[in-house]
Amino acid sequence: MPPPEDQPARDLYEAIKNYLDRQHIWYNPVPRGAIEVPAVWRPYLGPPRLLYWDDLNDRAGALAFAHEFGHVLLHPPGSPDPGNGHVKESEERIVHAAAAALWVHSGLTGYELGMTALGVPLGMLSPGDEERPAADVLSQEMINRLFS
Ligand SMILES: [Zn+2]
Repeated sequence: MPPPEDQPARDLYEAIKNYLDRQHIWYNPVPRGAIEVPAVWRPYLGPPRLLYWDDLNDRAGALAFAHEFGHVLLHPPGSPDPGNGHVKESEERIVHAAAAALWVHSGLTGYELGMTALGVPLGMLSPGDEERPAADVLSQEMINRLFS
């Protein structure tokens, strides 16, 4: 039996999966090693899909999906490959800050700690002042899509 305190994490995980189902967005578990990070959103694939490690527990899965959900809203299915570099790093910080707010909104604690355990560098978990407005807009959008 998973710990009962993980129920809010399972609820959030289910809410995000339900949203993806409603949008006909595929999510596929893959073995560790198939992707370098716990989860990735590939809007440019046909069909677009969210890939995630197949051995994540509910809490880690909820963390990964909360984060990728932000990328899904920023890059709807069919968007081009966002690539990497400076813009990508700024988006990472914005998406992490927004997902952390969604995490708290869902009655959960320990987003940063959990992400660090999943290998996310601390610098990605500290948005700059100029990134906070975008994170606030995104977190509100995430909450609206899931809970209204
Ligand atoms: Zn990301």
